[in-house]
Amino acid sequence: MSFADLGLSDELLQAVEAAGYTEPTPIQAQAIPPVLMMKDLIGIAQTGTGKTASFVLPMIDILAHGRRRALMPRSLILEPTRELAAQVAENFEKYGKNHDLKMALLIGGVQMGDQIKALSEGVDVLIATPGRLMDLFERGKILLTGCELLVIDEADRMLDMGFIPDIESICAKLPTNRQTMLFSATMPPPIKKLSDKFLSNPKYIEV
Ligand code: AMP
Repeated sequence: MSFADLGLSDELLQAVEAAGYTEPTPIQAQAIPPVLMMKDLIGIAQTGTGKTASFVLPMIDILAHGRRRALMPRSLILEPTRELAAQVAENFEKYGKNHDLKMALLIGGVQMGDQIKALSEGVDVLIATPGRLMDLFERGKILLTGCELLVIDEADRMLDMGFIPDIESICAKLPTNRQTMLFSATMPPPIKKLSDKFLSNPKYIEV
């Protein structure tokens, strides 16, 4: 299996080559084709398996070929910690360097001013921790009605950190006809319940 078999665009294949990857990891090989076909997905995978690229690469392709919406973010990636959110943002920049996609990193521990400014100028992708996202939403700084792609990453850690009510509330603000991907190292009952509620006929992958 090579990256070229997965359905990614030439620009993404170049970015993958520039990253030095010779072949997709198992989660990438299994997740990228259904995600490109706009399917919902549950990925049971640990960190270190290459799972970030398994959602960032197809997301860039989907966004690059979709219609840009004035100011409204079109996708949202939720991460449990600032560090993970920052890592995903780095990945997004690395793989997305051939595309003109705007990203905002919305995490706690830093001033809101720059985040609010970025939002007001319009972004394609939000990479956020639930607390900061809710805070900005409640201040009226974010519209989530155009978010047609959602990634809930590290769902079991979200559960451990008490973020499930926030996630439920965020999911309810997104359009119902969105595409949702959920990644978790394990599938405890509350995460199963969350995925039953917010994903539709998901492809299930375990690596
Ligand atoms: P992740 O599980 O997403 O945190 O990725 C773990 C590490 O694997 C990161 O440093 C990636 O840069 C690297 N990586 C991701 N995909 C591949 C690949 N197909 N081949 C080699 N390394 C990869």
